[in-house]
Amino acid sequence: MSKQKKQSYRNSCLTPIYQNIAYFFEDTAQVRQYYEGKVSVGRYGRYDNPNWLEFENKIAALDNYESALIFSSGMNAITTTACALLEQNDTLAYTGRCYRKTKQLFRQILPKWGIKTISINPTNNDNNFSNKCLENAKMVFLEMPSNPHLYLVDITKIKRKMHADALLVVDSTLSTPLNFQAQKWGADLTIHSCSKYIGGHGDVLAGSVAGSKDLIEHIRNYRNIMGGVTAPNTASLLNRSLETLEIRMQHFNTVGLEIAEYLYHHHQVKQVFYTGLKTHPHHHLAKKYLTGHGGVISFELDMNEKATSKFVDALQIPCMGSNFGSGQAMIEQCSIFTYYNLSPQERQDIGISDSLVRLSIGYGNSDALIEDIDKALEIANH
Ligand SMILES: *Cc1c(COP(=O)(O)O)cnc(C)c1O
Repeated sequence: MSKQKKQSYRNSCLTPIYQNIAYFFEDTAQVRQYYEGKVSVGRYGRYDNPNWLEFENKIAALDNYESALIFSSGMNAITTTACALLEQNDTLAYTGRCYRKTKQLFRQILPKWGIKTISINPTNNDNNFSNKCLENAKMVFLEMPSNPHLYLVDITKIKRKMHADALLVVDSTLSTPLNFQAQKWGADLTIHSCSKYIGGHGDVLAGSVAGSKDLIEHIRNYRNIMGGVTAPNTASLLNRSLETLEIRMQHFNTVGLEIAEYLYHHHQVKQVFYTGLKTHPHHHLAKKYLTGHGGVISFELDMNEKATSKFVDALQIPCMGSNFGSGQAMIEQCSIFTYYNLSPQERQDIGISDSLVRLSIGYGNSDALIEDIDKALEIANH
């Protein structure tokens, strides 16, 4: 196409998908303005995209920060943030009961580059983490709540023990900005895997990091180099998803609590891990920090491994799988699904018993799901 003035109508209700990689400048004066940050125009597809920008502005507002970045996945958001902000000989303290790939990054990869990593155990009931591991840390990384037991940590206690210059980073994938505002409790950065509740339809893999302008610009430089960027189409789907995040979370919070209460009262259920129930070990922290409890419910059956398998096999509504936050309800027997490759001792160490099941609800109502669970428990018993 020739270098003519490009004109087209621009009154689409939704932002069009900008699939392009290259952007043109009007003249050299505009190039200068771009580098001085005085105009909002794009330069190249790994650095800029209007669909990203729309999502980044919205997620920054939801997380209550100045600025945000979108990434190709939640893991990419975490790895790029760690690479940007940690250096050789720094110490990272993290909640050990976290997403397994996050743990592998912290245990296997960061130490290769001379970063010391220490895991803190959120089941320490008083949440009295030792001063030593926190006060030496350059970064403290918390997953709030944790997966699959939905453990919480007392973030204000942790913040108080941290060095004034240390960074507090919170992975709030399981709570979303609707149920937990990490920024209000002193988090410097809030991370989400947008592949779960934020995407909300099981069709998007993405991640986000939100924080102050300075921190985000620093991480942006690393994203520009490391290239963990997302497709424009993905950002457009996420912008669609954010329009319904609030009503979807209201559904998950309401139906999640109904299902958790039903399970709690069932005689074949030994223990339910749901922060909205008084019996969750961290219910007192949930009251302080969370405004809703979401659609993931883990529970232990009063059965052996085989009978538990019979139960999950008998369910008709949930698919067997380990995603959450989409339209489809999902179920997994943790010991033979996500944690299959661990030894029995390793599973015991992180509280994964043979009868532990993780249910994530979909967008259906509670009646049909309760009836399904009821029947499957009956079958498992015989
Ligand atoms: C899924 C998940 C991640 C990883 O996100 P991806 O988008 O799958 O890379 C990180 N943290 C938590 C808590 C998660 O549930």
